Amino acid sequence: MSEKYDYDLIAIGAGSGGLSVAERAAAYNMKCAVVESGKMGGTCVNVGCVPKKIMWLGANLAHSLKDAKDYGFDIENKGFDWGHLVNKREDYISGINNWYHNYLSDSNIDELTGFASFVDEHTIDVDGKKYTAEHIMVSPGTTPTVPDVSGAEYGITSDGFFELKECPEKVAIIGSGYIAVELAGVLNSLGCEVCMYLRKEHLLRSFDAMLRETLLEEMLDQGINIMPRTQITEIIKEKDGTLSLCDDKGNKNTAYNELIWAIGRHPNTEGLNLDAVNLELDDQGYIMTDMYQKTNVDNIFALGDVTGRAQLTPVAIAAGRRLADRLYNNQTDRHLDYKMISTVVFSHPPIATVGLTEGEARKKYGDGVTIYQTRFTAMYNSMTSHEVPTAMKLVCIGAQEKVVGCHIIGPGCDEMLQGFAVAMRMGATKKDFDDTVAIHPSSAEELVTMR
Ligand SMILES: Cc1cc2nc3c(=O)[nH]c(=O)nc-3n(C[C@H](O)[C@H](O)[C@H](O)COP(=O)(O)OP(=O)(O)OC[C@H]3O[C@@H](n4cnc5c(N)ncnc54)[C@H](O)[C@@H]3O)c2cc1C
Repeated sequence: MSEKYDYDLIAIGAGSGGLSVAERAAAYNMKCAVVESGKMGGTCVNVGCVPKKIMWLGANLAHSLKDAKDYGFDIENKGFDWGHLVNKREDYISGINNWYHNYLSDSNIDELTGFASFVDEHTIDVDGKKYTAEHIMVSPGTTPTVPDVSGAEYGITSDGFFELKECPEKVAIIGSGYIAVELAGVLNSLGCEVCMYLRKEHLLRSFDAMLRETLLEEMLDQGINIMPRTQITEIIKEKDGTLSLCDDKGNKNTAYNELIWAIGRHPNTEGLNLDAVNLELDDQGYIMTDMYQKTNVDNIFALGDVTGRAQLTPVAIAAGRRLADRLYNNQTDRHLDYKMISTVVFSHPPIATVGLTEGEARKKYGDGVTIYQTRFTAMYNSMTSHEVPTAMKLVCIGAQEKVVGCHIIGPGCDEMLQGFAVAMRMGATKKDFDDTVAIHPSSAEELVTMR
C-alpha cells in the first residue's frame, strides 16, 4: 500500500472502465477511490446498454404480439404504455446504481462525488478537494455529438431519447451507426413513424456488406424511411411545436415531433485540465495509450471509450481488469488484445458479428479467402405472415480455412455468437465447425452445416 499518497489508485469516472479497474485493484488489497460527477455505472447503466436493451426487449414483444395471430392466438392489443415501461426501466436502473454504492463500500473502495481535474501527475482536484494517488486511471467516457447546424438545439441525443415520457408520433434520426439503427428499430416497433437521414450511402458502414444490406431491406420492409446521402442544413421549430428539417437537396421535411442526433460521440476530456500533466491526445481528442493502457505519463493510464478503441462495455471492463492484474498482481504482460471482439447490434432482427468482414479479409489475404454463406427463413418466421430474413457468413482463410470472421443477422443471433467467438479465438477452422454436431432444430445449426 502506498505511504506517499492518499491512494494506490484513483479512477476518474465510475463507468464500466473505472469501476472494473478499481474493483480488481481492491481485490489485490490496493487502496482505491473512484470519482464520479454523474450517476454510478456511467453510460452503459444509465443511458446506454441497459436502458437500450430494455426498450429493445419491449419492442420485440410488440413484434411477437403481431405474430401471435399467426400462431392461432386471438388477442387484441389495446395499446402500449410507454410511460409504464420507462418507469419500470428507471426503477431497475436505480437498483443497479444503489447496488454499486453498496458494492463499493463493501469492497473498501472510496466514492469521491464530484468533477475531477488534474493538478499534477499524482494529484487531482474534486470540487475543490485534493487527492493524491500513485496511479491515476482516466476513464471519463464520451458524450453524444451535436453538430454545428442552425437549430441543432431543437434536437435531442440518445441521452434525451431515454428521457422521453411518451412515444413520439414522428421522429427523424440523423446518423447511420449502431445507436441510430437501434433507436430507429425500437421507435418504429413501438408505433412511431421513423425517418433516418444518412450523410453517406450505407447504414453500419464498417459492418460486413451482407449484414447491412439484409438489415436495410428489413428496415424498409418494416416501414422505416431511409434517406441516404442527405445532410441536414437547418432545423426550424414551427409554431405548432413540430420540427422541419431542411436538407442539402433543397427539401423541407416537416412535422417531426423529435429529432435525434446519433452522429457519433466525442471524448469527455474537457475540464480535466490535461495540460497540467501534458497528456497526449490524438487528432480526434482521444487519449493515446499503448497496449498496456499507459499514456505518455508513466503513472497515468486511460481506458474505455476515451481511448477511442472498440467503444463497448465489455472492452472497457476487460481492459480495466487486465490493467489491475498487471499493476498489482505481477502479471507483467497482461493486456487486452483488441482483435476478435464480438458485438451485437440490437436491431430488429439483431446482428451479431466478430472478426474480419469479407471486404477486410479480401484486402488482407486476397485469393486466400473462402466464404461460406446462407440465407433462410427461421422456423419461427415460417409460421408468420411477416417473414424476417436470417443470413449468415463465415470468412475463412488459407488452406486450413481458419475462421476469421462470423457474421449473422436474424432472430436469436444475439445469444448465438458468444460461443462461436470463443472457438474462433482458439483458432477454429471450418472443419472444426463441420465436425461439431448440430443442435436441431435451431438457426444456429446452420453455422456448423454450411456448404
Ligand atoms: C445508446 C448507447 C447504447 C450502447 N449500447 C451498448 C451495448 O449494447 N453494448 C456495449 O457493450 N456497449 C454499449 N454502449 C457503449 C458503452 O456504454 C460504453 O462503451 C461504456 O459505457 C464505456 O465505459 P467507460 O467507462 O469508458 O465510460 P462511461 O461508461 O461513459 O463512464 C464514464 C463516467 O465518467 C464520468 N465522468 C466524466 N468526466 C468526469 C470527471 N471529470 N470527473 C468525474 N467523473 C467524470 C461520467 O459521468 C461517467 O459516469 C452503448 C452506448 C450508448 C450511448
